[in-house]
Amino acid sequence: MINLVTGGAGFIGSFIVERLLRNKEKVICIDNLSTGKTDNIGNWINNPKFQFINHDVTKKINLKVDRIWHFASPASPIHYQKDPIMTSKIIFLGTYNLLEIARKNKAKLLLASTSEIYGDPEVHPQNESYWGYVNAIGKRSCYREGKRIAESLCYDYFRIHKTNISIARIFNTYGPRMAPEDGRVISNFISKAIRNEELVINGDGSQTRSFCYIDDLIAGLFKLMESDYIKPINLGNPNEEYSIIHIANIIKRKINPSLKIKNQKLSEDDPIRRNPDIKKARLLLDWEPKINIDTGLEKTISYFKNNL
Ligand code: NAD
Ligand code: UDP
Repeated sequence: MINLVTGGAGFIGSFIVERLLRNKEKVICIDNLSTGKTDNIGNWINNPKFQFINHDVTKKINLKVDRIWHFASPASPIHYQKDPIMTSKIIFLGTYNLLEIARKNKAKLLLASTSEIYGDPEVHPQNESYWGYVNAIGKRSCYREGKRIAESLCYDYFRIHKTNISIARIFNTYGPRMAPEDGRVISNFISKAIRNEELVINGDGSQTRSFCYIDDLIAGLFKLMESDYIKPINLGNPNEEYSIIHIANIIKRKINPSLKIKNQKLSEDDPIRRNPDIKKARLLLDWEPKINIDTGLEKTISYFKNNL
């Protein structure tokens, strides 16, 4: 079985590569190292079953593969908003190019979609049949609308070419190997707390996210790749929904109780509440997350302390 992991030098992608190699499968990793790091894949560079190709997914490439894990995309708001036209281009063209490889090889493609496709949701928790509440022209639209068209493309390849697909709607996931400067809340707060810099909360901090630890997400993604389920499926941790102020206070307590916290303006279209309904994943994949925020943060903090 030859696996192609796009975005394999990034946070989530590197854990997919690691588990595939542990299972003795062949892995081709494509990444342009825009937010990913060679450190994340350094351990496997000399592994004969591993090949790294520095490549931008907006450009065509011909490869012989059996499975595609399509994770290449800017993922953090500060990265995807920096060059929004490029973000739309990467998500659309990247998904199109990878679906073409899947079609030609009769390979399966798993798309890393996102809870962002629900926008600023009006229903809680969000289940897969909710169509979302999305601003088409806001600052987050390049990413949200990009992932919506990516889902749509996948489904059209399934309808028209019978391409085997899976669509994971991933909710906020955190853990070791997140880039300290990537702007996402947990990596930002932990790296700032270790450096004794004040934590900056956008808005009053009452907005929530549901936080899933990376090991739980990876278990769900592997079950999804094995399944025949075609429609989108939520993967996230419904039991660990916390406000951002609560997360700031836990990290402060764990790393540096004397840290200062300040507030700044909430950014445009920042969702107020997010929580996954994972009934489908429970039923169809026999999956649910097991790691709570306390354990997950301890592991993540320990990684950041050793790697900052
Ligand atoms: P990340 O930034 O660590 O990883 C993304 C990887 O894609 C990086 O290695 C980057 O260099 C690579 N990349 C970006 N543009 C590329 C291009 N044009 N060509 C080739 N490689 C490119 O972020 P992550 O959190 O690991 O996210 C991985 C995927 O999961 C993304 O598709 C993201 O949308 C999705 N996702 C992540 C989360 C989360 O909470 N972490 C939530 C929902 C969806
Ligand atoms: N956030 C914050 N301070 C930070 C980073 C993020 O207050 O230093 C907030 C952000 O405005 C959002 C939440 O934390 O409300 C989660 O942000 P993140 O970028 O991690 O994920 P996303 O918004 O994409 O769900």
